[in-house]
Amino acid sequence: MTDASGFPDLDLNTGGCPVCNVASRALFDSFAQLQYALAEDEDTRRRHAAAGGFCPLHSWQLAALSSSVGLAVTCEALVEHAANALDKTMASGPTSAIEASSEVVRTPAGPHTCAACQAIAQARTHAIQRLAGLLATMEGQTDYARSGGVCRPDLAKLLSAIPAPDGRRWVLLDAVTRFHQLENDLRTYIDLRESGQRGKLTRDQLDAPRRALIHLVGAEELYASRRF
Ligand SMILES: [Zn+2]
Ligand SMILES: [Zn+2]
Repeated sequence: MTDASGFPDLDLNTGGCPVCNVASRALFDSFAQLQYALAEDEDTRRRHAAAGGFCPLHSWQLAALSSSVGLAVTCEALVEHAANALDKTMASGPTSAIEASSEVVRTPAGPHTCAACQAIAQARTHAIQRLAGLLATMEGQTDYARSGGVCRPDLAKLLSAIPAPDGRRWVLLDAVTRFHQLENDLRTYIDLRESGQRGKLTRDQLDAPRRALIHLVGAEELYASRRF
């Protein structure tokens, strides 16, 4: 589901960081659209190649989702673009070859030119603003307290989006409580696993290492690529 601005809805009833969840849904929505357009439409492939393609992470993530032929036609356009750029470098002559090749070496795209990185950044900013607005109400605070809570990188952004000092303090206190709870869950996880009592772990405790990583650095699907 999307909201009135076309971004995925902020959902406080799912696990993990609600802001990362919006960002990853926006990423996979944009992948789904682009994957089809890249496979079917030559102009889209040409524009994608001219823009430098995706950054390394998003190139591999898209590859993991693409069909073999879809991946091949996308790569063909990117390789053709790179080959033509190298042709121009050769044609510019040996004296300027190193300088000219730096244009080629500068690709692949980085966070400021990668369309997938941009989609994530826009969705994240939108979700942070929506969450800051919700947290200005008692009802929003109650809903947020029941959610998984934002990851540490999004916590910094959320704090800077809340104008009221009392509101920032509430969010910070909530984060302190969550991180200490997570610390306790990890200690219990280690103690019970090391003493062969895995069966005594609650579901939350069993999931503690994965939750710890989500809350320390952000959601896995935004930063990892599966093998394809
Ligand atoms: Zn997050
Ligand atoms: Zn990217």
